[in-house]
Amino acid sequence: MLLSFKKIPSSGINFKLNCEDVEFFGSVSKASKDLVRCLGNIRGKIVCPCDRCADDFVYEIDEKVDLFISDGMYNRNFLEVIEFFDGSIDFDTILKSEIELIKSDYHYCPKCADNK
Ligand SMILES: [Zn+2]
Repeated sequence: MLLSFKKIPSSGINFKLNCEDVEFFGSVSKASKDLVRCLGNIRGKIVCPCDRCADDFVYEIDEKVDLFISDGMYNRNFLEVIEFFDGSIDFDTILKSEIELIKSDYHYCPKCADNK
């Protein structure tokens, strides 16, 4: 799902998309000339390996997303900023990178979580 930076008002606009069993929804609003703020939620299920026994299991995601999206290069690095260079925001890319981020955390399957 693509959304042009030009079409994002400062009052915000809602978005919603799905990727497999994961839903990403929320709103984006113009924060400054080249910067858009994205507030949303990622909910659903992903399959990831347990960090203790390495078995794949279904992990339920329920994460809040609060990040900034830049139209072009963003030089100040005090914020979490995702840069896009073709004038539009690709929400699928954001969702995929957020899922990768979640996957890179430690997760234990229910079996291992019970035997802590
Ligand atoms: Zn396990």
